Amino acid sequence: MILLLFGAPGSGKGTQSALLVEKKGFFQISTGDLLRSAIRDGTKLGNDAKLYLDQGKLVPDSVVIGLVDDILEKALSKGHKLFIFDGFPRTGAQAQSLKEILKKHELYAEAAVFINVDNEVLVKRLTGRRICQVCGSVYHIENNPSKKSGICDKCGGQLILRSDDKEEVVLSRLETYQVTAGLLRNFYNSDGIVKEVNGDQSVEVVYENIVSSAGL
Ligand code: AMP
Repeated sequence: MILLLFGAPGSGKGTQSALLVEKKGFFQISTGDLLRSAIRDGTKLGNDAKLYLDQGKLVPDSVVIGLVDDILEKALSKGHKLFIFDGFPRTGAQAQSLKEILKKHELYAEAAVFINVDNEVLVKRLTGRRICQVCGSVYHIENNPSKKSGICDKCGGQLILRSDDKEEVVLSRLETYQVTAGLLRNFYNSDGIVKEVNGDQSVEVVYENIVSSAGL
């Protein structure tokens, strides 16, 4: 089963992916997480990608397509069968490449779920978000604060504002998402697999809506 999860930054697609991993045994492929981990590890790919992430710009297609191709191959060889793509594809070229990569393994996308949230709500969610620079755990200064301000409950690491969660960068990321979401809706509409979910509801309700709309 291949599930594509789309949503603007801050729409909760990361949270929903984590739930699908936990409750349904999906293997998550998040290009944002892969890139941030490469940046933390200081790899050449990470250093090159950092310039794009800091400005909220899309990393070149060839870089993310290569990452996805690699990780899918490895996960399949370990026996994984259920996949969520989170944050990929983001361009027409990525969508086309994903189709080809999947075909190589006799797979195809079965559902493209769009989690929809108004921009005003998204800006509040993102600019209040804090992540642990050691373990990557996510908090929110109002909705999900850590017990001790600025310190991760799980590992004691320092909580920081992601450079791309600064307001001016957030606005540019949201604009980029609107353009790509339109394009990708059209792409997957022609396959008849688009599902729309209202993301401005509780985490549990959004999860149930995703499960039922994707027929999981
Ligand atoms: P995300 O965590 O999905 O919001 O991604 C954070 C950032 O990583 C984006 O703003 C881009 O700079 C980069 N990124 C993640 N996924 C992709 C992708 N599929 N194509 C290009 N850039 C990406």
